[in-house]
Amino acid sequence: MLVSTLGYNFHFALLLWLKAIEFCLFNAMQMSIFHDTIKMVINMKKTIQIIFTGGTISMQRHAINKQANIIDNRDDLLQNIKNELSQIEIRLHQYSLKPSPSITPGDMLNLAKLSKSFLDDPTVDGVVITHGTDTLEESAYFLDLYLRHEKPVVFTGSMRSYSDLGFDGLSNLLSSILVAADSSSMNMGVLVCLNDEINTAREVTKSHTLALDTFKSLEFGPIGIIEQDNVIYTRNTHLTIPNIQPKDIEPNVALIKVASGMSSDLLNLLVDTNVKGIVIEALGRGNVPPQMIGGITRAIENNIPVLLTSRCPIGRVLDNYGYEGGGYHLHQLGVIFTKNLNGQKARIQLMLALGLSHDIETIKKYF
Ligand code: ASP
Repeated sequence: MLVSTLGYNFHFALLLWLKAIEFCLFNAMQMSIFHDTIKMVINMKKTIQIIFTGGTISMQRHAINKQANIIDNRDDLLQNIKNELSQIEIRLHQYSLKPSPSITPGDMLNLAKLSKSFLDDPTVDGVVITHGTDTLEESAYFLDLYLRHEKPVVFTGSMRSYSDLGFDGLSNLLSSILVAADSSSMNMGVLVCLNDEINTAREVTKSHTLALDTFKSLEFGPIGIIEQDNVIYTRNTHLTIPNIQPKDIEPNVALIKVASGMSSDLLNLLVDTNVKGIVIEALGRGNVPPQMIGGITRAIENNIPVLLTSRCPIGRVLDNYGYEGGGYHLHQLGVIFTKNLNGQKARIQLMLALGLSHDIETIKKYF
């Protein structure tokens, strides 16, 4: 009897303990949900990190000779759009004050590492990079290959300088900040936003020397637009790209454009001067004059990866012509096909891949 009373009391006490623990856990959970909600309300502002590199968006024309040159206008730019950004906290970082023809692949690696450090900061929601438009697609694609982050990275710039009538930099910067702060831009890879259009780094190219709508995804169009401060995505992209994150890159990669009747002279010169990779912008769907075959064969025999893109602005390279210099022949020789990448992006991808390996079979896996 005594034993069973003790047992009963023990069970009762245990039940009480369990109930107490359950009560505490439940309240703790309620409290943490409550805290999270409070945090969300207090921290409603998104934080966007802007990295300035230079380009026309940071240029001003000389009053007399009209030449455009770089100035440090980051505070002025922000001052002009700050009223539109009441819900977004902006942080500024000046990486450089360079026109983009002076941006090197080494700079791109620095920018990739810098962006990664900002993206890894839990208080940052997205990164916007201002850049000259001439090489913007190369930097954007470099970061797209290097970074794997769910947070948005958006490149922007301008076609008119700060002192020009109709300067497009303010609206481009504002739209890019809105895109970077919009949660629907998560997991979209690196984006390019000018002229109120959103394009992916993989697809976009500078298509016009002067027009404000110069950035085009020529084959499939933009993936979204910005309409009266609303970020609207209209399609997804299924073009996958590899993640290539070397410590260093191989900058010694050449890009040559093919024209009728070209010989192997340029290719031979490149092999003789110890180039580490060659990208060929071939004819049509990926063909070269037969006189170039000697140089291509020699490069591959010297363990130099030779990549094939097309000088056509749209479409893939294919291996279906069997004549000498045709795509099938080039494939048989070991030339690496790059789908619908343009020459300048294929070159960036090869620089990154060569940063990991110089073995041609390994390089092939990155294309
Ligand atoms: N040449 C300029 C640059 O790329 C053009 C621009 O910024 O749009 O820096």
